[in-house]
Amino acid sequence: VNFGYSKVERAQHKGLVKDVFEKVAPKYDAMNDFMSFFLHRAWKDRFVSTVHPFAGQRHLDVAGGTGDVGFRVLREIRRAEEDHVVEHNAEPPSKGSVCICDINGAMLEEGKKKVETLDIPDAAQGLSWVESDAESLPFEDSTFDTYTISFGIRNVSNIDKCLREAHRVLKRGGHFCCLEFSQVNNEVLRQIYDLYSMNVIPYIGAAYAGDANSYQYLVESIRKFPEQDHFAEIIAANGFKSVRYENLLDGVVAIHSGFKL
Ligand code: SAM
Repeated sequence: VNFGYSKVERAQHKGLVKDVFEKVAPKYDAMNDFMSFFLHRAWKDRFVSTVHPFAGQRHLDVAGGTGDVGFRVLREIRRAEEDHVVEHNAEPPSKGSVCICDINGAMLEEGKKKVETLDIPDAAQGLSWVESDAESLPFEDSTFDTYTISFGIRNVSNIDKCLREAHRVLKRGGHFCCLEFSQVNNEVLRQIYDLYSMNVIPYIGAAYAGDANSYQYLVESIRKFPEQDHFAEIIAANGFKSVRYENLLDGVVAIHSGFKL
């Protein structure tokens, strides 16, 4: 699955995506709050509860951008480790960690700036930052317990390649979780949503970030993305088992998950 791109178009697409996020990086967090009416925060909280962080977990957040999901996962891992100490009167055998990976160094740099302000024990020690393409990850097979990709997979040029890489780097029993914009299944909401995304978002992008084209691209990439059932089939076709999804806000976004068994 690659949105019907040819090989040459895929290369151009990758360049375009890099360019888009290079431009929006400094204002990405503020724009997210502004454009989603802060809803993305609640969606990400819900998403991380699907991951079920545990003590000692090794987690990979791909297309991790400025760290929103990676930080949330690390916070929950540390909470689980504190619970372990209370329950067992001993430290867990190992400390968990989160690797935040993104194709765009500018997004990662914005994320690194926030680490000092995080209210998470041993945050800096628990985080690593890797600049890499989701389609070709620089990790050995079976490295991670869990994998997340949030608002990232629709930007990847070849979804099959990305999913195969996710499957490869997960350990057996590993959990794959994806948060992405999806197809709205409520007619009234769909019309409001279409109006907002096609007409308002590019103007906010122009006025606030001085870049309408980047936001136009982001809106179009949402419209081209496969609907919930089709995307679940694609995940299963790339080796994941027990694939399921949950719609949030009538499908404005969906959480897909599956296991490497
Ligand atoms: N996950 C973050 C969040 O939920 O706020 C950031 C999402 S942002 C909309 C999409 C991110 O995907 C950008 O940081 C972009 O650089 C990254 N990205 C796009 N294509 C990628 C690829 N092929 N491999 C890795 N990251 C990619």
